[in-house]
Amino acid sequence: MKISKSFIPTLKEVPADAVIPSHVLMIRSGMVRMVSAGIYSFLPLGYKVIRKISEIIREEMNAIGGQEFHLPALNPKEIWEATNRVEAFGDTMFHIKNRDYVLAPTHEEIMTFHAKGVLKSYKDMPQIWYQIQTKFRNEPRPRSGVIRGRQFLMKDAYSFDTSLEGLDKSYELHDKAYRNIFDRCGIKYFIVGASSGAMGGSKSEEFMVQSDAGEDTVAYCENCGYAANIEVAKSVIDPVKRDDVGKEVYEISTPDVKSIDELCEFLKIDERETAKSRIYIHDGKPVLILMSGNDDVNESKLELVLGGNVRSAHPEELSDITGADAGSIGPIDFKHRIIADLRLKGGNNLYSGANKNDYHVGGIDLERDAPKTEYFDLRSIESGEKCTRCDSELAVFKAIELGHIFKLGTKYSEGLGANFVDENGEEHPIIMGSYGIGVERVLACYLEQNHDDNGIIWDNTLAPFHCHLIGLNMKSELISGTCEDIYTTLQKKGYEVLFDDRNDVSAGFKFNDADLLGLPVQIVVGERNLKENMIEIKERRNNEKQKISLDDLYQKLEELLK
Ligand code: ATP
Ligand code: MG
Repeated sequence: MKISKSFIPTLKEVPADAVIPSHVLMIRSGMVRMVSAGIYSFLPLGYKVIRKISEIIREEMNAIGGQEFHLPALNPKEIWEATNRVEAFGDTMFHIKNRDYVLAPTHEEIMTFHAKGVLKSYKDMPQIWYQIQTKFRNEPRPRSGVIRGRQFLMKDAYSFDTSLEGLDKSYELHDKAYRNIFDRCGIKYFIVGASSGAMGGSKSEEFMVQSDAGEDTVAYCENCGYAANIEVAKSVIDPVKRDDVGKEVYEISTPDVKSIDELCEFLKIDERETAKSRIYIHDGKPVLILMSGNDDVNESKLELVLGGNVRSAHPEELSDITGADAGSIGPIDFKHRIIADLRLKGGNNLYSGANKNDYHVGGIDLERDAPKTEYFDLRSIESGEKCTRCDSELAVFKAIELGHIFKLGTKYSEGLGANFVDENGEEHPIIMGSYGIGVERVLACYLEQNHDDNGIIWDNTLAPFHCHLIGLNMKSELISGTCEDIYTTLQKKGYEVLFDDRNDVSAGFKFNDADLLGLPVQIVVGERNLKENMIEIKERRNNEKQKISLDDLYQKLEELLK
């Protein structure tokens, strides 16, 4: 491709709305342009890379027996209603105004629709069906460029099995394929245990890239490799203390004391001697959630414990439920379900709200005074806490989710009535798995990990072109003629070449563009060198330059680009 005839609108300036490196680089190198928040056009250079990533994904999906589909993005709403997912997606789902259609945010429903009545017998399975196709989600805060789009490309795959053992096998195959895909793309990733959340199902793992630009938080143990999304991550429980002498429950007047910090200050006690109460509404019924001190409730953990619909109670509901306002609520004589964090189990002489404004109680022994309390791990863990496997310190950091593999089970086959008949003629719902990769996120994560101050650093695999041929003074016939020869020969040898043949920009401008675009090898043809039959080549990864004889170019390239 000759630059003079191509559309690669590079920018010198950093775009105002771009903060993270991948976003900046994709815009500056002319790979994408934003159309509206969370909606991007891929320009030719960017789309070339997307196609290379897609091809790697295809090869690895086909290698595990995957068969490629192309499903519609425009879906009748009723299919989504059959699985209650119009409600589950809520505002994230785009609705079409003049018809009962939605834009698909994922494709479990449509794939299950195709399996229904077709995968009828146990003999028809296993099957792995996939596609690489556009998804639509009304993400509330689209930022970080293509990492969170409202329209984005996903590879989504679905497995159909007749037994849990079969599902295990399909899941393992995808796990392997995903490792191959991300390894081939040159991305450093790690795998975390994740919450299956509202999707239903059992085991689920996410492929993550550590990055401050990420919106997921993960806990990681460098010593033993334990890694989990904060939504499910565990650490060694550090329980609150149990005094030898337990007091009786007693009331304390605490005027204007609302927060845990104010209570600690007022009574001159430690945060760990307090238990903070919050009211949630679960399927219409109040539940009191009790945490030690200021520990936060991790709402994903809470949802997993409770299942169904969970929300925090509105302030105006509190006094009806407890007799007090926020800040004075507590477990003593509470009429409904109480769920406490594991840290509180066995603690005594605790302080909490009295369910009476401006009063607290002390001397609480939860097992004695609120014996029906149930205990679960509800806390978000923090850096420095101990790993449950090896007792080393856990690190908690931000990460980007590249891909997700899920054991779905029968949620969708039951919802849509996709059943099969087993060896004994009995009918069962098909057992499914679902497996996604954000294709644009693969590109963004690669760029997050492979750049320097001057621009992108491509490996041979994903690079939009293998080499960048730069003719320094294209007005010179010697240079332009030599470059044309090199350009033709390299293409004949199967290389993809970007040829900077412009004769109206300076050498410095060309070098800056070449470093920004970051193709693996730059071939610089200049007058002084050429008079000695020499050219210069530069490896972008280490910025090493070498003067070599023109005759050695092809041999050298073969070495560098193997
Ligand atoms: P996230 O938590 O980041 O919103 P998700 O859990 O909603 O992701 P899935 O529904 O599992 O994601 O989708 C599968 C894959 O699609 C994700 O692993 C991610 O790589 C990609 N993906 C999801 N949402 C977006 C988005 N808004 N823009 C770009 N890629 C996305
Ligand atoms: Mg999401």
